[in-house]
Amino acid sequence: MQLRIPGPTPCPPRVLEAMRRQMINHRGKDFATLLYQITERVKEFFFTKNDLFLLTCSGTGGLEAAIVNTLSPGDKVLALSNGFFGDRFSEIAQAYGAEVIKLEFPWGEALSPDEVKKALSQDPGIKAVILVHNETSTGITNPLAEISKIVREYDKLLLVDAVSSLGSLEFRTDEWGIDVAVTASQKGWMAPPGIAMVSFSQRAWQAHKEARMPRYYFDFTLARKFYEKGQTPWTPAISTLYALASSLEIMAEEGIFNIWQRHKEVGKKTREGIKSLGLSLFAPEEFASNTVTAVKADNLNTKRLLEWLREERNIILAGGQDKLEGKIFRIGHLGWITTEDIDILLKGIEEALPYAGFVPKLRYA
Ligand SMILES: *Cc1c(COP(=O)(O)O)cnc(C)c1O
Repeated sequence: MQLRIPGPTPCPPRVLEAMRRQMINHRGKDFATLLYQITERVKEFFFTKNDLFLLTCSGTGGLEAAIVNTLSPGDKVLALSNGFFGDRFSEIAQAYGAEVIKLEFPWGEALSPDEVKKALSQDPGIKAVILVHNETSTGITNPLAEISKIVREYDKLLLVDAVSSLGSLEFRTDEWGIDVAVTASQKGWMAPPGIAMVSFSQRAWQAHKEARMPRYYFDFTLARKFYEKGQTPWTPAISTLYALASSLEIMAEEGIFNIWQRHKEVGKKTREGIKSLGLSLFAPEEFASNTVTAVKADNLNTKRLLEWLREERNIILAGGQDKLEGKIFRIGHLGWITTEDIDILLKGIEEALPYAGFVPKLRYA
């Protein structure tokens, strides 16, 4: 099977094998070794010396942890959004009582650093900026390095949903001054769902001291206290941690720069292949994501396309979310994937197109 959705992603056999290990005492010495080993390695992939927590939850839990550990009800939050996941992050802040100032961009366009600068200069009361690095719903990688530079100039907290980019795309937590970065095991990390990874800077700890949003499960004061003992406050997803330890080993063998490069090649090959079939890309080339490609479906039936690929070729792709349902389809190419996999995928899509009523646009020479 070719599972090509933007998470969960396929796991290498070694990773699945690692999950067969017997349970251990999560208050014992072996668990402490496992926890410290994984945490230190994940920090390397984040390019951070900040604290980092492994939480038992999906990516959204990590986003919630980022919000409740740094903010108080009534705090002004500049929420940037150009897609489904940008909206989600903003909704979490709102749910906990932040005063959310939403800066929206069309779905299919990148976030604009200039607009961020304008918003920050207009309202000195803003405490934090939240955004999505790689907007999985539209296949766009936002210009995070540029935006973070501006946020640092204005000295605001910067919380980043890097769920579908960290570990696959270039990401430099400390160099970019990112206070909280969030990702999850089932995306580029080649492990099953169950663990969110969240880095937390000194500035974030400073904010944490005054942060009054209600929290219990995700309280980082507790997380830190337990980490010092080699534990997590609550029972962790031990099997997913076994898997993650194994996938991190595979990632370390390949090397992070090679991983970034491989995703670049895979992304480029996907986009070129899609265009050569006569289809169009949803994202502007400059901001096209190397972990997920969104394809316009103006002249085809996405439901039929996805169905045919699933039934006839065992290839699983994703549709559009929310207002993009039926308007695009998405290919996840992150984690355990090579350019050869893209060949198989493109061939499948080519064969499927006639069954999806695809009408190639006429090209006039
Ligand atoms: C997958 C994803 C999430 C988290 O989704 P969960 O289902 O909670 O793991 C958040 N943001 C982005 C950008 C994602 O791709």
